[in-house]
Amino acid sequence: MLKFYFGPMDCGKSTLALQMNYNHGRQGRRGLVLTKHDRSGEPRVTSRIGLGLEAVEVVDSMDLVELVRGHDRIDYLICDEACFYTVEQIEQLADLVDGHGVDVYAFGLASDFRSVLFPASRRLFELADEVCRLQVEVLCWCGRPGQLNARVVGGEMARTGEQVVIGDTDASPVRYQVLCRRHHRAGLLGEGTGVGGGTVQTAPQTAPQTAPQTAQ
Ligand SMILES: [Zn+2]
Repeated sequence: MLKFYFGPMDCGKSTLALQMNYNHGRQGRRGLVLTKHDRSGEPRVTSRIGLGLEAVEVVDSMDLVELVRGHDRIDYLICDEACFYTVEQIEQLADLVDGHGVDVYAFGLASDFRSVLFPASRRLFELADEVCRLQVEVLCWCGRPGQLNARVVGGEMARTGEQVVIGDTDASPVRYQVLCRRHHRAGLLGEGTGVGGGTVQTAPQTAPQTAPQTAQ
């Protein structure tokens, strides 16, 4: 079974990847966790909510079939950040499912900052047995569901540039922001997100206040 879970940043992909690895491990199954360009900058899968696990860092020259065959017995692979793998490596994941009885759970972004599919994600859409959109409370600043990642450079939304640029680190002038389709297309980053030197605001995660309840 080849499954692809996709969604924007912060939608809980890495958290689900770690949870899935835990669940399979508890069943006595043996797996490998793979990642590429994790937010920690290390060969780890780390989630926004503070979970983390050592992982195999995928590099372009790596043959994933060979990687699995170098182990005694592998029942499943958790492939985080699969959007950054090569197309050939996605083919290798399908080979592992079909020829080696390995279950593959891939997680990643569907599209880049221009809302164009990553080549690896496109191949996953084409080959996966099952595709699942994750939508875990990532909201645009306007409150609509966040669907697309915007790249923000110097407070402006970028429309051109390299497909993969690591951002959201102290050393990087690039950050990423999740927007709804409407505001991604319009290039509107919302108030207080850097344009004109405004302060960065964190949207409250609580639901809007309802009127005080009257005693029964
Ligand atoms: Zn919006």
